[in-house]
Amino acid sequence: MHNRRSMQALSIRNLSKTYANGVTALRGIDLDVAEGDFFALLGPNGAGKSTAIGIVTSLVNKTGGTVEVFGHNIETELEKAKACIGVVPQEINLNQWDTVYNCVYNPAGFYGLSAKRSRIRTETCLRELQLWERRDETARNLSGGMKRRLMIARALVHKPKLLILDEPTAGVDIEIRRSMWDFLRHINQKGTTIILTTHYLEEAENLCRHVGIIDDGRIVENDRMSAVLRKLHQEVFLLNLEESVPADFQLQGFSSTVVNENEIEVEMHKGTSLNQLFKALSAAGINVTSMRNKTNRLEELFMRLVERREDERTREVTEPEQRI
Ligand code: ADP
Repeated sequence: MHNRRSMQALSIRNLSKTYANGVTALRGIDLDVAEGDFFALLGPNGAGKSTAIGIVTSLVNKTGGTVEVFGHNIETELEKAKACIGVVPQEINLNQWDTVYNCVYNPAGFYGLSAKRSRIRTETCLRELQLWERRDETARNLSGGMKRRLMIARALVHKPKLLILDEPTAGVDIEIRRSMWDFLRHINQKGTTIILTTHYLEEAENLCRHVGIIDDGRIVENDRMSAVLRKLHQEVFLLNLEESVPADFQLQGFSSTVVNENEIEVEMHKGTSLNQLFKALSAAGINVTSMRNKTNRLEELFMRLVERREDERTREVTEPEQRI
C-alpha cells in the first residue's frame, strides 16, 4: 500500500497528550523521520520528548493524533509496529537478578524468535556490545556504563529497523558517551534508523543528520542539523535611523529588511565585526540613533539547554558515577 521509495520510519500527525493530572505534554505535533536517518529530538527538560517516545513505543496512551512506524499504525497494527522498534529507555530497567545472557535472551522470545534464533541473536548482540565475556554474571554486578550497553543489546535482539533511545548518555561520563556514539554511528551506517532524545546540543550535533526541537509540547524547529546550526549562528540587529529610508532600501553587503521608514533589520553572521556594519552604514550616509540585538528564539532555547548542561556538569563532578 505504501510507496517503498518514500518510506518513513516514523510518521506522526497531530499528536497530543494530556496527562490525567491535566498537564498537556504534547500540543498536536507533526514529525517525519525517514528510513535510514539519524534523528535527534532535542529540547529542554519537560518539553515533551519522553512523552512522544513513550507514545511511539506504546508505553503512554495518546490523547489524539496518529503514529505510524514503517507504515504500521500503532493502533491498528500494534504488533507489526512493535516488531520494527527497539527501545532503550532513560531509566535502567533491567531485571537485575537475571544473568546478562538472560536479560537479552528472554525478551527475544516475546518477539516470537525461535529458541535457536534467540541464542544466535543474543550472542551476536552481546558480542557487539562487548558483554559476551560477562554473560554469566548477574546484571546487578555490572557498572552503570555496562548496564546501558546491556539495554542496547537487549533492544537490538530482534533486529529492529528503528532504534529509539531516550537520553542515552544522560549522566554517563565522557568516555562511555564517546564509545556509545561510535557504536550508534556504526549501526546507523549499516542501515538502522535511529531516533534519540537528548538535551545535549553537542550530542545531536555530533551524531544526527536531522533534528526536531520541541519546546512546551510544540515542534519549534524541524530541519537538517546543519541548517539549524546556521540559524543559530545568525544574529539580527534592529537599527533606529536618524533619517528615513525608502521601502526598498538594501544595505550594501548585508541582508537587510526595512521594518518602517526609520527602522531596519540587519542579519549578520556571528563573529562578523560590527565595524563592517558601521562602515556600510556610513557609506550609505545613514546615521544610527540606537541599535539592539533582536532576540533569537532558537538561541534562547539553546541557552536554556546549555544552562542545564552546565548544571549537570557540576553534578557530575560532585556525584561521580557509572565508570566502566
Ligand atoms: P521531557 O522528556 O522533554 O523532559 P516529558 O515528556 O517527560 O518531557 O514531560 C512533559 C510534561 O509532561 C512535563 O510537564 C511533565 O511534568 C509532564 N509529565 C510527564 N509524565 C507525566 C505523568 N506520568 N503524569 C503527569 N505529567 C507528566
